[in-house]
Amino acid sequence: MRFQAEYDVIVVGGGHAGTEAALAAARMGCATLLITHNIDTLGQMSCNPAIGGIGKGHLVREIDALGGLMARAADRAGIQFRTLNSRKGPAVRATRAQADRGLYKAVVRHALENQPGLQLFQQAVDDLVVEGERVTGVVTQGGLRFGAPAVILTVGTFLGGRIHIGEVQYEGGRAGDPPANALARRLRALPLRVERLKTGTPPRIDARSIDFSRLQPQPGDTPPPVFSFMGQVADHPRQVDCHIAWTGPRTLEIIRENLHRSPMYSGVIESVGPRYCPSIEDKVVRFADKDRHQIFIEPEGLDTHEVYPNGISTSLAFEVQVALVRSIEGFERAHITRPGYAIEYDFLDPRDLHPGLECRALQGLFLAGQINGTTGYEEAAAQGLLAGVNAARRVRDLPPWCPRRDEAYMGVMIDDLITRGTREPYRMFTSRAEYRLLLREDNADLRLTPAGRELGLVDDARWAAFETRREAIARENRRLESTCLKPGAVAADTASRLFGGPLTREYTLQELLRRPGVGYADLMEIPGAGPGVADAGVAEQVEIQAKYAGYIQRQRDEVERSRRLEETPLPADLDYAAVSGLSHEVRQKLAQHRPHTVGQAGRIPGVTPAAVSLLLVHLKKRD
Ligand code: FAD
Repeated sequence: MRFQAEYDVIVVGGGHAGTEAALAAARMGCATLLITHNIDTLGQMSCNPAIGGIGKGHLVREIDALGGLMARAADRAGIQFRTLNSRKGPAVRATRAQADRGLYKAVVRHALENQPGLQLFQQAVDDLVVEGERVTGVVTQGGLRFGAPAVILTVGTFLGGRIHIGEVQYEGGRAGDPPANALARRLRALPLRVERLKTGTPPRIDARSIDFSRLQPQPGDTPPPVFSFMGQVADHPRQVDCHIAWTGPRTLEIIRENLHRSPMYSGVIESVGPRYCPSIEDKVVRFADKDRHQIFIEPEGLDTHEVYPNGISTSLAFEVQVALVRSIEGFERAHITRPGYAIEYDFLDPRDLHPGLECRALQGLFLAGQINGTTGYEEAAAQGLLAGVNAARRVRDLPPWCPRRDEAYMGVMIDDLITRGTREPYRMFTSRAEYRLLLREDNADLRLTPAGRELGLVDDARWAAFETRREAIARENRRLESTCLKPGAVAADTASRLFGGPLTREYTLQELLRRPGVGYADLMEIPGAGPGVADAGVAEQVEIQAKYAGYIQRQRDEVERSRRLEETPLPADLDYAAVSGLSHEVRQKLAQHRPHTVGQAGRIPGVTPAAVSLLLVHLKKRD
């Protein structure tokens, strides 16, 4: 008798997408199995030991708002925290945590092992069970068969993975792990579009061989920010410094002299890498006028000497890497513990997906993470969570759920991927969001936690904390709107410092808070105005809502105006040849992309506003 077992949802891969997917499906009550190559690498960070950053931090807070793990894991494993862009507007402020790699994995594994409804299994998945146009299970390397109406593939850089270090090439999913070749062959045989991308990572270095006295220390923020809406500073372990180093003139010479030994420049690698995370050889070529490049020396953890030199990702030959590293000031005696490398891998064209991340061609097959052409832990985790939700909804015959572009960065990312696809590893930036004043890190819970509760992702403790916070914000807003300060009520020196002179009439606290340069804390010091709320998160929210009210309202109005297009569905069987007035090119594009809504159609490159109007006319006539 052959072994066989049935689940509601099977997740293949235990990286950042897979772990969030499995947790989400299990939180929603599905019997879930997470199968991965190696249980010891659950939650492993393949590249830099850091979570968050601009755009990415926004995704982490959204994952958290929906009850996901990443923010809580970063809080428990973060050894340095900073708020980036802290002097800029709230839309672009972002949290970044340097993580202890080992601790991060331990937190992820603990969460997975303790999630009711979730089982773990270690083995490679080599095959999918396909019945007609549906996926109904997986087969492992050992021939074991697991069945489920929903299967989520989150196999990262492993599909047909090929590692490059100078002239040396070998097969691998990432350093130290096998590739997923059998699964890659199977996917290539299915009606899915497969392409290649590449990414790279720097060599790791033994800190004991670095002269830190010649580097510039970079401490974290005090007090350190907290990622999770449910977190606190006390969750953080011991905090440490990062350091800043610079490439020297000799570094650039070494790279230029050895470019022919970089597989990217010798023509061995043809696939495209992440434009915004370029290798050092790319930087030297692309920014030829720059005479030095910054390197952040990031500790890999509290109990290890290894450091991660962020900024010198390379696939140059190993001996060139040694020379390159030793040409950096303070690194003259550096010992490399792991070589840098580039990896090429298969990804599947995300335009073949529905908004719920289910394949159009195969019901029950969901894809999330690097397999969809993205790069980054946060992008992967966000997709994983959404795929977990939608796999659970597929099992229950519920329609897919995905936030809109005006509701979440997650919505922006999914819409970008499924509408435009990608030709290079896709990463999140705040500039990708047209409504970025609405999509701030600080309000991710207000935007998403109610939806998360309805979906079954948010537990009672989080919901109670959320309701308390939401009510406190509303109460304080009401108080600011109804409390007035009379002209004589503010001491002359305070009035001149805060308002540039005495008040000439009665003002509400809300009106005063809107004035430039007046902070919530300043206002609360005025007798009759304070003491205000003690919770810093509530105070921050009240201040941002007051200060940016006009801009926020303008973006809301824009959202309303475009809502008609976003909410007008385009039938899956629409015959674009029958839409009169469309150019041949637009017809072809629409027939090929098959957008889900008129709004989405308008974002396909080449589809003009005039074409959108013709579509609306056609739909009206059809009705
Ligand atoms: P992964 O984290 O790769 O996880 C995939 C999981 O699937 C693994 O657990 C693996 O064991 C498992 N698996 C694979 N195939 C099978 C199978 N057939 N059966 C069972 N289990 C399987 N991101 C950045 O943001 N910036 C960078 O500069 C950057 N550089 C990178 C450099 C390198 C060399 C690598 C490898 C990655 C880099 N990344 C970078 C990307 C980052 O690591 C990924 O974006 C992120 O880890 C993707 O998450 P994921 O869950 O999709 O896949």
